[in-house]
Amino acid sequence: MVLQPQVKILIRRDQIAKAVDRLASEIKRDYQDKQPLLIGVLKGSFVFMADLIRQLDSPLELDFVRLSSYGAARESSGKVRVIQGVKTPVKGKDVLVIEDIVDTGITISFLLDYLKKKRPASLKLCALTDKPSRRKVPVPIDYLGFTVPNEFVVGYGLDCDQRFRNLPDICILEEY
Ligand code: 5GP
Repeated sequence: MVLQPQVKILIRRDQIAKAVDRLASEIKRDYQDKQPLLIGVLKGSFVFMADLIRQLDSPLELDFVRLSSYGAARESSGKVRVIQGVKTPVKGKDVLVIEDIVDTGITISFLLDYLKKKRPASLKLCALTDKPSRRKVPVPIDYLGFTVPNEFVVGYGLDCDQRFRNLPDICILEEY
Protein backbone atom coordinates (compact mmCIF):
# COMPACT_ATOMS: atom_id res chain seq x y z
CA MET A 1 0.00 0.00 0.00
CA VAL A 2 1.24 3.52 -0.75
CA LEU A 3 1.51 5.43 2.51
CA GLN A 4 -0.28 8.73 2.69
CA PRO A 5 2.24 11.55 3.07
CA GLN A 6 1.23 12.76 6.51
CA VAL A 7 1.59 9.40 8.29
CA LYS A 8 4.66 7.64 9.71
CA ILE A 9 4.63 3.97 10.75
CA LEU A 10 4.82 3.48 14.50
CA ILE A 11 3.90 -0.22 14.80
CA ARG A 12 4.30 -2.47 11.75
CA ARG A 13 1.67 -5.00 10.70
CA ASP A 14 3.94 -7.96 11.61
CA GLN A 15 4.40 -6.56 15.13
CA ILE A 16 0.61 -6.17 15.39
CA ALA A 17 0.07 -9.77 14.25
CA LYS A 18 2.51 -11.02 16.94
CA ALA A 19 0.75 -8.98 19.62
CA VAL A 20 -2.65 -10.33 18.52
CA ASP A 21 -1.28 -13.89 18.81
CA ARG A 22 0.07 -13.16 22.30
CA LEU A 23 -3.19 -11.57 23.46
CA ALA A 24 -5.21 -14.48 22.08
CA SER A 25 -3.00 -16.95 23.99
CA GLU A 26 -3.47 -14.99 27.22
CA ILE A 27 -7.25 -14.79 26.71
CA LYS A 28 -7.53 -18.51 25.83
CA ARG A 29 -5.55 -19.41 28.95
CA ASP A 30 -7.83 -17.30 31.20
CA TYR A 31 -11.17 -18.26 29.63
CA GLN A 32 -10.49 -21.99 29.20
CA ASP A 33 -13.77 -23.25 30.69
CA LYS A 34 -15.82 -20.18 29.83
CA GLN A 35 -17.73 -18.85 26.87
CA PRO A 36 -16.93 -15.13 27.01
CA LEU A 37 -19.03 -12.35 25.53
CA LEU A 38 -16.68 -10.07 23.62
CA ILE A 39 -17.95 -6.51 23.27
CA GLY A 40 -16.17 -4.37 20.69
CA VAL A 41 -16.26 -0.59 20.87
CA LEU A 42 -17.17 0.77 17.44
CA LYS A 43 -15.80 1.80 15.16
CA GLY A 44 -12.12 1.76 16.06
CA SER A 45 -11.88 -1.80 17.42
CA PHE A 46 -13.40 -3.65 14.46
CA VAL A 47 -10.14 -4.55 12.66
CA PHE A 48 -8.43 -5.64 15.89
CA MET A 49 -11.49 -7.62 16.96
CA ALA A 50 -11.75 -9.37 13.60
CA ASP A 51 -8.14 -10.54 13.84
CA LEU A 52 -8.35 -11.43 17.53
CA ILE A 53 -11.48 -13.59 17.38
CA ARG A 54 -10.03 -15.69 14.59
CA GLN A 55 -7.18 -16.66 16.95
CA LEU A 56 -9.67 -17.63 19.66
CA ASP A 57 -10.81 -21.03 18.47
CA SER A 58 -13.14 -21.71 21.41
CA PRO A 59 -16.85 -20.81 21.64
CA LEU A 60 -17.64 -17.16 22.30
CA GLU A 61 -20.34 -14.56 21.80
CA LEU A 62 -19.86 -11.21 20.12
CA ASP A 63 -21.52 -7.84 20.31
CA PHE A 64 -20.70 -4.19 19.70
CA VAL A 65 -21.41 -0.88 21.36
CA ARG A 66 -21.05 2.56 19.90
CA LEU A 67 -20.22 5.53 22.07
CA SER A 68 -19.76 9.17 21.31
CA SER A 69 -17.39 11.57 22.95
CA TYR A 70 -15.02 12.85 20.32
CA GLY A 71 -17.25 13.83 17.42
CA ALA A 72 -14.94 14.90 14.62
CA ALA A 73 -12.37 16.42 16.96
CA ARG A 74 -9.21 14.88 18.36
CA GLU A 75 -9.91 15.76 21.98
CA SER A 76 -12.42 13.97 24.16
CA SER A 77 -15.32 16.22 25.10
CA GLY A 78 -15.39 14.43 28.44
CA LYS A 79 -19.07 13.63 27.96
CA VAL A 80 -19.78 10.12 26.77
CA ARG A 81 -23.09 8.90 25.37
CA VAL A 82 -24.20 5.42 24.32
CA ILE A 83 -25.31 5.62 20.69
CA GLN A 84 -25.74 1.88 20.23
CA GLY A 85 -26.06 -0.20 23.39
CA VAL A 86 -25.29 -3.86 23.85
CA LYS A 87 -28.05 -6.12 22.46
CA THR A 88 -26.90 -9.43 23.92
CA PRO A 89 -27.93 -10.10 27.56
CA VAL A 90 -24.92 -9.39 29.80
CA LYS A 91 -26.17 -10.63 33.18
CA GLY A 92 -24.08 -13.56 34.42
CA LYS A 93 -21.76 -13.51 31.38
CA ASP A 94 -17.97 -13.30 31.34
CA VAL A 95 -17.61 -10.04 29.45
CA LEU A 96 -14.42 -8.97 27.71
CA VAL A 97 -14.44 -5.46 26.26
CA ILE A 98 -12.30 -4.90 23.16
CA GLU A 99 -11.07 -1.32 22.72
CA ASP A 100 -8.72 0.27 20.19
CA ILE A 101 -7.04 2.85 22.43
CA VAL A 102 -7.23 4.06 26.01
CA ASP A 103 -6.31 7.73 26.13
CA THR A 104 -7.73 9.83 28.99
CA GLY A 105 -9.66 6.73 30.09
CA ILE A 106 -12.95 8.65 30.20
CA THR A 107 -14.66 6.67 27.43
CA ILE A 108 -13.73 3.22 28.65
CA SER A 109 -14.44 3.87 32.31
CA PHE A 110 -17.89 5.11 31.30
CA LEU A 111 -18.43 1.91 29.32
CA LEU A 112 -17.18 -0.33 32.12
CA ASP A 113 -19.62 1.38 34.54
CA TYR A 114 -22.46 1.00 32.03
CA LEU A 115 -21.70 -2.73 31.68
CA LYS A 116 -21.17 -3.30 35.42
CA LYS A 117 -24.76 -2.16 36.01
CA LYS A 118 -25.89 -5.07 33.84
CA ARG A 119 -24.31 -7.48 36.37
CA PRO A 120 -21.91 -9.62 34.33
CA ALA A 121 -20.20 -12.56 36.11
CA SER A 122 -16.88 -10.93 35.25
CA LEU A 123 -15.75 -7.87 33.34
CA LYS A 124 -12.31 -7.40 31.78
CA LEU A 125 -10.71 -5.10 29.25
CA CYS A 126 -8.50 -5.87 26.28
CA ALA A 127 -6.98 -2.80 24.61
CA LEU A 128 -4.88 -2.74 21.48
CA THR A 129 -3.04 0.43 22.55
CA ASP A 130 -2.62 2.54 25.66
CA LYS A 131 -1.50 6.16 25.92
CA PRO A 132 -0.82 6.33 29.69
CA SER A 133 0.72 9.81 29.55
CA ARG A 134 -2.75 11.25 28.89
CA ARG A 135 -4.68 9.39 31.57
CA LYS A 136 -7.25 11.32 33.61
CA VAL A 137 -9.23 8.38 34.99
CA PRO A 138 -7.49 5.19 36.19
CA VAL A 139 -8.34 2.20 34.00
CA PRO A 140 -7.28 -1.40 34.69
CA ILE A 141 -6.23 -2.93 31.36
CA ASP A 142 -6.22 -6.71 31.66
CA TYR A 143 -4.79 -7.45 28.20
CA LEU A 144 -2.69 -4.85 26.38
CA GLY A 145 -1.14 -4.85 22.92
CA PHE A 146 1.10 -1.77 22.95
CA THR A 147 1.90 1.34 24.93
CA VAL A 148 2.08 4.31 22.56
CA PRO A 149 3.62 7.78 23.01
CA ASN A 150 1.60 10.97 23.30
CA GLU A 151 0.88 11.22 19.56
CA PHE A 152 -2.32 10.90 17.57
CA VAL A 153 -2.28 7.43 16.03
CA VAL A 154 -4.27 6.11 13.08
CA GLY A 155 -4.56 2.89 11.08
CA TYR A 156 -5.57 -0.69 11.87
CA GLY A 157 -9.10 0.57 12.58
CA LEU A 158 -8.14 3.89 14.18
CA ASP A 159 -9.29 7.00 12.33
CA CYS A 160 -9.02 10.72 12.10
CA ASP A 161 -12.29 12.15 10.81
CA GLN A 162 -13.15 8.68 9.46
CA ARG A 163 -9.96 8.45 7.38
CA PHE A 164 -6.96 6.12 7.71
CA ARG A 165 -8.86 3.18 9.26
CA ASN A 166 -7.73 0.94 6.40
CA LEU A 167 -3.98 1.41 6.93
CA PRO A 168 -2.57 -2.00 7.90
CA ASP A 169 0.04 -0.52 10.26
CA ILE A 170 -0.46 1.73 13.30
CA CYS A 171 0.85 5.13 12.25
CA ILE A 172 1.48 8.54 13.74
CA LEU A 173 -0.48 11.32 12.10
CA GLU A 174 2.12 14.02 11.68
CA GLU A 175 0.21 16.88 10.15
CA TYR A 176 -3.47 17.19 9.52
P1 5GP B 1 -10.48 8.55 25.98
O1 5GP B 1 -11.86 8.67 26.48
O2 5GP B 1 -9.69 7.43 26.65
O3 5GP B 1 -9.75 9.85 26.05
O4 5GP B 1 -10.56 8.28 24.45
C1 5GP B 1 -10.79 7.03 23.92
C2 5GP B 1 -11.25 7.13 22.50
O5 5GP B 1 -10.68 8.30 21.87
C3 5GP B 1 -10.75 5.96 21.71
O6 5GP B 1 -11.68 4.93 21.70
C4 5GP B 1 -10.56 6.59 20.33
O7 5GP B 1 -11.77 6.55 19.63
C5 5GP B 1 -10.20 8.04 20.60
N1 5GP B 1 -8.75 8.30 20.60
C6 5GP B 1 -7.96 8.63 21.65
N2 5GP B 1 -6.68 8.79 21.27
C7 5GP B 1 -6.65 8.51 19.96
C8 5GP B 1 -5.60 8.46 18.98
O8 5GP B 1 -4.40 8.68 19.23
N3 5GP B 1 -5.98 8.13 17.72
C9 5GP B 1 -7.27 7.87 17.38
N4 5GP B 1 -7.51 7.57 16.11
N5 5GP B 1 -8.28 7.90 18.27
C10 5GP B 1 -7.97 8.21 19.54
